[in-house]
Amino acid sequence: MPKIPRILVIGDGTAGLNFANKIRRLLPADDAFVTLVGSSSRHYYKGDGFLLPFGYKKPNESYKPVDFLLDSRVEHIRDTVTGIRVNDRAVITRKRTLNYDYLVIATGAKLAYEMVPGYLGEAKHFYDFEHSMELRGILERFNGGNVVIGPCEVNSPCPPSSFEFAVLLDQFLREKGIRDKTSIKYVYPLEKAFLLDELAPTLEQILRDSEIEIVTGFEVGSVIQKNHELHSKKGDSINYDLLILVPPHRGQDFIADSGLKNVNNFVTVDKNRLNPEGHDEIFVIGDAADLPIPKAASAAWMQAEYVVKEISHRLGKMMIGSTYEGDVGCTLYAGRGLGMTVYFNYEKRPLASKPKRFDYLLKKMESDAYFSAIARGMI
Ligand SMILES: Cc1cc2nc3c(=O)[nH]c(=O)nc-3n(C[C@H](O)[C@H](O)[C@H](O)COP(=O)(O)OP(=O)(O)OC[C@H]3O[C@@H](n4cnc5c(N)ncnc54)[C@H](O)[C@@H]3O)c2cc1C
Repeated sequence: MPKIPRILVIGDGTAGLNFANKIRRLLPADDAFVTLVGSSSRHYYKGDGFLLPFGYKKPNESYKPVDFLLDSRVEHIRDTVTGIRVNDRAVITRKRTLNYDYLVIATGAKLAYEMVPGYLGEAKHFYDFEHSMELRGILERFNGGNVVIGPCEVNSPCPPSSFEFAVLLDQFLREKGIRDKTSIKYVYPLEKAFLLDELAPTLEQILRDSEIEIVTGFEVGSVIQKNHELHSKKGDSINYDLLILVPPHRGQDFIADSGLKNVNNFVTVDKNRLNPEGHDEIFVIGDAADLPIPKAASAAWMQAEYVVKEISHRLGKMMIGSTYEGDVGCTLYAGRGLGMTVYFNYEKRPLASKPKRFDYLLKKMESDAYFSAIARGMI
C-alpha cells in the first residue's frame, strides 16, 4: 500500500488553524495525515485589541478553545517546536521528533520588547489579550493628560493599528467627556503618517479632523521612565502621561538555527510560491514569512488558500496548481464611528473606500465572521 503523506503544520494561530481546517476538509483521510502542533489552549482574535481596551467588547467574546475551532479529524499535538532539521525533514518539539512530507510553518511573530530600552514596565500596548485588558483598566481610570501613540517599527503585523487605536481613543474620550482634558500625539517613523503612499494623505486628514497631533520622522529609540519621556533615535523627545507603543516584532527563535534563510527570524520565501530557497516541500504562511506586503490575517488566510491548492495539486488531487499574488484586504477603523476598506496585491496599488458607517459596523462584527468561518477554514 502506498505511504500516506504527512502534512505537518506548526503554529496554531490564524494561519495554522485556517490552513489545517481547510486542507483536512478538502483531502480525504486516505490521501494525507494532517497534524497541527501548537501549545495554545484558547485562540484569541487579535483584532479585538481595538475594542477590549475601550470596553466595546466583552472579554469572553474574544477567544474560543482551539479544539472547538479545529476539525476533529486533524491530529492536534500540544507541544512547542524547538527546532527544524530541514535535511532530515524533521521538526523537533520539547517532547518528540516529527517527520513530514510537507511542512507548513505558521508560527507567527513574537513581541521583541528588548529592542527598545525602557519599554518594559512603562509602555502599554494592545497586541495581546492580557495587555489589552491592562489598557482597559488604565483607560477606565484615565481622567486626562498627554497620550502618545505609535509603532516602534513600520512593518509590525497590522501596520495601521496605531492610527486605528488613536482615532478610537479620540472617540472614546469624547464619549467619556474628557477629550478637552487630553492631548493625543501620533508618532510615526517615516516622514508621512502611514507607509502606503495611497493611504497616507487620507489618514493624515482623519487624524487632523480628530484633533490628533501628527509627529512624523520619529523613530522610537528608548523610553526614559523616570522623566516620562519617549526618545527618538535622532535624539528628539516627547513627554507623556500615558505611552502606548506597538512593540517591535521578530520571528520565532528556532528559525535562527533551522538553516532557513531569514531576516530577523522571518523566513525568506519566494513571494509567489511561499517556499524557502531550495525547499519546495516547506511553505511559510502568515506573519512568520518575510514578504513585501504587510503582515495581516487577511494575507495569512489567502496564503493558506494558495498552499492548500498547491499541496492538493502535488498530491494529484487538483488539476492545476496556483500561485500567491500578494492579496491583502482589510477594514480599518477610521474615526468618529466610521470605517474604510482597503485592498491591494503585488500588482495592484492600494485602493481604499471612502470612510463609511457600514464599514465600521462590519469591522466591529469581524470576530463573529472570524470564529465562525475564517479560523475554521470555511473561507
Ligand atoms: C491589535 C491587532 C489588530 C489586528 N487587526 C487586523 C485586521 O483588522 N486585519 C488583519 O488582516 N490583520 C489584523 N491583525 C494581524 C493579524 O492578527 C496577524 O497578521 C495574524 O494573527 C497572523 O497570523 P499567524 O497565524 O501568522 O500568527 P499568530 O496568529 O500569531 O499565530 C502564531 C501561532 O504560532 C504559535 N507558536 C509560536 N511559536 C511556536 C512554537 N515554537 N511552537 C509551537 N507553536 C508556536 C503561537 O502560539 C500562535 O498560536 C491584527 C493584529 C493585532 C495585534
